[in-house]
Amino acid sequence: MTPIPGSGLAKGLAVTLRTMTRKTVTAQYPDVQPELPPRSRGVIGLFEENCTVCMLCARECPDWCIYIDSHKETVPAATPGGRERSRNVLDRFAIDFSLCMYCGICIEVCPFDALFWSPEFEYAETDIHELTHERDKLREWMWTVPEPPALDPKAEEPKELAAARKAAEKQAAAEAAEAADRGDAGPSEAQGDAQ
Ligand code: SF4
Ligand code: SF4
Repeated sequence: MTPIPGSGLAKGLAVTLRTMTRKTVTAQYPDVQPELPPRSRGVIGLFEENCTVCMLCARECPDWCIYIDSHKETVPAATPGGRERSRNVLDRFAIDFSLCMYCGICIEVCPFDALFWSPEFEYAETDIHELTHERDKLREWMWTVPEPPALDPKAEEPKELAAARKAAEKQAAAEAAEAADRGDAGPSEAQGDAQ
């Protein structure tokens, strides 16, 4: 069967018209930032205060791209007659993101919640050496980590929060008792001053 002359052109125009009226899905990055899910694996942040230099993350990393250096320090005994303790002090913590495969194992295995995912991803470099982020940079990423999602309504309160809440309640009660003691003495003293 011979094709109708001009049918190819009509089909092409129909496709063009259909595409023109369809909602565009083109991401206008970098003019418009993408809306990433909060659990996106962009970069790893280090909360140094929580790190005990246990080396678990560096040992478990399949790419061996976490570099940790530390030294030991002696902590004097807390009580007279007590024993001195030794603790690890972090000298270097770096992650080479040119090797990292974003598996998240280091974050999963850290027993002290010192590593977190941040959705930030704009850290491309022209020099590969710059992709090794040292502790200061890893700490800066920490401030871009999104808040954890709210707990389920019937979820058990995390033990860290429960301990902090109890300590805060205890302190508030002690302060209230102190204020009440002062309040009892206060008005009579004030009256005495007025007379
Ligand atoms: S995400 Fe995986 S590859 Fe990257 S540093 Fe952590 S353990 Fe290593
Ligand atoms: S596993 Fe956690 S606490 Fe241990 S060295 Fe790594 S970041 Fe620090």
